[in-house]
Amino acid sequence: MDHTPSSTDEYTEIREEVRKLCARFPGEYWRKLDEVRGYPTAFVNALTESGYLGALIPEEYGGAGLKLAGAAAILETVQAEGCNGAACHAQMYIMGTILRHGSEAQKRAYLPKIATGELRLQAFGVTEPGSGTDTTSLRTFAKKEGDKYIVNGQKVWTSRAEHSDLMLLLARTTPRDETRKKTEGLSTFIVDMRTVLGKGLTIRPIRTMMNHNSCEVFFDNMEVPAENLVGVEGKGFRYILDGMNAERLLIASECIGDAKWFTAKSTAYANERKVFNRPIGQNQGVQFPIARAYTQMRAAELLVREGIRKFDAGEPCGEEANMAKMLAAEASWAAGEACIQTHGGFGFAEEYDIERKFRETRLYQVAPISTNLVLSYVAEHVLGMPRSY
Ligand SMILES: Cc1cc2nc3c(=O)[nH]c(=O)nc-3n(C[C@H](O)[C@H](O)[C@H](O)COP(=O)(O)OP(=O)(O)OC[C@H]3O[C@@H](n4cnc5c(N)ncnc54)[C@H](O)[C@@H]3O)c2cc1C
Repeated sequence: MDHTPSSTDEYTEIREEVRKLCARFPGEYWRKLDEVRGYPTAFVNALTESGYLGALIPEEYGGAGLKLAGAAAILETVQAEGCNGAACHAQMYIMGTILRHGSEAQKRAYLPKIATGELRLQAFGVTEPGSGTDTTSLRTFAKKEGDKYIVNGQKVWTSRAEHSDLMLLLARTTPRDETRKKTEGLSTFIVDMRTVLGKGLTIRPIRTMMNHNSCEVFFDNMEVPAENLVGVEGKGFRYILDGMNAERLLIASECIGDAKWFTAKSTAYANERKVFNRPIGQNQGVQFPIARAYTQMRAAELLVREGIRKFDAGEPCGEEANMAKMLAAEASWAAGEACIQTHGGFGFAEEYDIERKFRETRLYQVAPISTNLVLSYVAEHVLGMPRSY
């Protein structure tokens, strides 16, 4: 099945190169890692060496200087080829916070090394066990003392923390009751985890349904140099929000890739598997769920592309980014469900990779933002209804 979205796509060559790279990492590679919850180091290194993880870093800082559309084409292809970009996708959008709000010294210090892979910036410490979706109620506190901040608190679901050198951390620097708005008094820091691991920083992996290398992270008087504050103290929540549209659109692109992978598997098997002396795909009961999921994917894909077009044109795209992420995550889930059903019992056998992709793609209806919160956003900010929480 041709994964290219349309004849006007300008990233055909990149897609082809990513396809070749992914062919070096077949299902067997991912299955072995899944068994031991291992990190795909070789795959991430290959993506880094090929320059794909530095796709959004401008050329002057050593990156490829692609638009979001280019990064989306890379991640979509990774998923459509059966690989899993979750091991490293955050690096593509987290660095945007440093790029947009960091000082020139921070950009020069970090971005070129992130582009070459010398430094990994893959950990994003926002969610806390006590705050959940209500980000501004987070309690991790960074107290300024001279030329450093002393950080105390806890994060949860900090993915890839064990496989990243740097973490972008959101912490409170002014107590919530001393701010005018709850969105104020939060600050963003670049934490060099190599220097504080075991000295104020503890990382504990969480075993999850799929291989996602997510962790609990504890800060106990962890010291962060004041120069690692990004932008202005107290404005960190705005900086994180700024990056969310890119994150949602890239994850939506991954879901489109997943849906294409599932549909390619479903149609191939439906055509080849014979029961009652005819291909199972001859039965409309088998065809229709596959065709319906494909239709859902194509509709979601249009919205993903529209969101990306607006993002790259510098236009507001919160509406499209949120809706695209929700629809794409639902389409990949529908395609996964059709794929398991089409394969009958074999859909559950690990060697087909379907159950693995099925587990992996389920996440995106919950993270990085859950479906209810997307709907709340649309209800309130797009349709003008009262805020529900
Ligand atoms: C594998 C994995 C990786 C992750 N990686 C990261 C990461 O790298 N960095 C990071 O910071 N976070 C990460 N997250 C966290 C993720 O962003 C959150 O899990 C997600 O935002 C939901 O928050 P929560 O789990 O606290 O759910 P809660 O906020 O507790 O919500 C639970 C349920 O209630 C619903 N709900 C809550 N409030 C409302 C409301 N007002 N109206 C309607 N429904 C509501 C939600 O939609 C959800 O279904 C990850 C999560 C997972 C599972």
